[in-house]
Amino acid sequence: MAQKPSKKFILGADVGGTNIKTVLVDGRGEILAAVKRPTLGRRGRDALIERLVLTLKDTVKKSGAAMRDVAGAGIGFASPLDPGKGMVFNPPNLPGWSNVPLRDILMQKLKMPVSLDNDANLVALGEHWKGAGRGARCLVCLTLGTGVGGGIVLEGRIWHGAGGIAGEIGHMTLVRNGRRCACGNKGCLEAYASAQGLVLRMQELLKKRKVGKGGKITPENIGKWARSGDKLANQAIKDTGVILGVAIASIANILNPDVVVLGGGVSNLGGYLFDPVREEVKKRAFPKAVEELKIVKAELGDSAGALGAARSLMLSLDG
Ligand SMILES: [Zn+2]
Repeated sequence: MAQKPSKKFILGADVGGTNIKTVLVDGRGEILAAVKRPTLGRRGRDALIERLVLTLKDTVKKSGAAMRDVAGAGIGFASPLDPGKGMVFNPPNLPGWSNVPLRDILMQKLKMPVSLDNDANLVALGEHWKGAGRGARCLVCLTLGTGVGGGIVLEGRIWHGAGGIAGEIGHMTLVRNGRRCACGNKGCLEAYASAQGLVLRMQELLKKRKVGKGGKITPENIGKWARSGDKLANQAIKDTGVILGVAIASIANILNPDVVVLGGGVSNLGGYLFDPVREEVKKRAFPKAVEELKIVKAELGDSAGALGAARSLMLSLDG
């Protein structure tokens, strides 16, 4: 007879530059409690670690469970890091962090197993576990927000590659001497398919036609203008979709995924974005690579990263 597990619940946290989001889940991924708080990263490293620990404890309290019922905590962090060593290198949005052994620090403070991974990888794992990519053998996830985050899930596990960098799809070079990217390279997907990339495209089109625009140029407004029949807004989204399609066609030929999930603010543009993406992929990739491929919108929204973090801890306990 199988032994009844004594610790039934798992914590998951997604630590971003703006917010800490946490969940307490059961083994099937049902959320028992969730908390969202500002990160307040400017207060420094130690204050943030204390805040994270407190938020995790409060999440357990809110659910009515006890800390002794928790098997461990999975942590997602918006930073380059080494998941194997549990080390955070240098988060771009958090001052005072450099080579911090965050996993070991948290294990000591929480007195339970802790796993650590990059936030975009965990969004991919979350969408594979409970969201738009359930059951996929190979899932590729792109989060189109301030930047373009990427993650690859193969046979239910995050693919980290040799040095932990795998999945940085936002930094796939698409234009040899293209726009400067935040990473220092030129012509990365992120420079075109992020929120800022879409805004830049809209500005280029307006400049070319020598017309102005009432209202601030944001992805939300561009979507609103497109829906009310504005041709330039429609074109800006289409151009963004085409370049995303070019990138996904290459991914389709290389990895042959069954699901590509698109999340983040830019993915809210619906068919204006998804139609040109799908068309371009069909035009460029091998027909066999497209046959089984579904390109879908993310389903979990805000909680994807924290859910993926909980899942990642579960997988690490399974060995
Ligand atoms: Zn880049």
